Amino acid sequence: MQIWLDGCLVAAKDASISPLAHGLHYGTGVFEGIRAYRSAKGPAIFRLSDHLDRLGRGAEALGMAVDLEDLHRGCLEALQASGLEEAYLRPLVFYETGGLGLDVAGLKVRQMVAALPWRNHLGDAGEQRGVRLRTSPYRRNSAAALPPLKLCGGYVNSVLAKLEATHAGFDEALFTDAAGNVVECTGENVFLVKKGRITAVQHGDALPGITRETILALTGAESRTVALDELKAADEVFLTGTSAEVTAVGARDERSWTLNPVTRELQALYQRVVHGEAEASRGWLTPLQVSV
Ligand code: PMP
Repeated sequence: MQIWLDGCLVAAKDASISPLAHGLHYGTGVFEGIRAYRSAKGPAIFRLSDHLDRLGRGAEALGMAVDLEDLHRGCLEALQASGLEEAYLRPLVFYETGGLGLDVAGLKVRQMVAALPWRNHLGDAGEQRGVRLRTSPYRRNSAAALPPLKLCGGYVNSVLAKLEATHAGFDEALFTDAAGNVVECTGENVFLVKKGRITAVQHGDALPGITRETILALTGAESRTVALDELKAADEVFLTGTSAEVTAVGARDERSWTLNPVTRELQALYQRVVHGEAEASRGWLTPLQVSV
């Protein structure tokens, strides 16, 4: 496998990173999760600049100078080199050498992009019977402590919650806040459907998801604070994320859902959009091959 590293494609086995990388020790990096889909114009990347803009906001928070045009090129080159028609793209920028102190000024910044084969990380269960959510005993990182961006270190919070949920026999963890409001899952935003009306859970500690924003743009759904009790009373609950796409929730703790007609319809619509088959896709897809 080839990795795009600091501007060049290198074999993954030859990509060298220092064991003293600051990002490895303290999580001082920022990443993105982006998907490329098969389309009539060949492989095309969905909402590439929106993902890179979010990465840019994370880099800025870390005081890191990053050239987003370079990374844009990196995503295209990594995808091309992979030969994949559909892929998950993982750009990552992080502090590497220059010291292990917490003042990051002057540290070397490394940047990479990998293109990997991918399926919904919530697996077949998510696609067939819907995922089983467990309300997590962990709180989400508070935005007052850690901005809700894709900062590497912040994901330890997701890993702990995911471990706890899977050990208890569930597929995914649901974060709630101290006031009993829904925040998000470890790698997805949350929506509910009640009497045909779609609502996106809004919370200041949740990542501003690009899939969430896509669904809002496609459906005109409302976005507001949602209490956990309201989720229980919903007709359908679904999750959104680049990896999860639109995934039905089959159960949360003791409550289960079997019929998910609105979710199914949105799943189909989302697939048409990411594959460039819908009017709305225009402007959201960056084809690998630019037509001449
Ligand atoms: N929340 C978290 C914590 C995530 O990691 C992700 C995945 N990036 C999402 C929500 C969904 O965001 P997006 O739709 O931009 O992938």
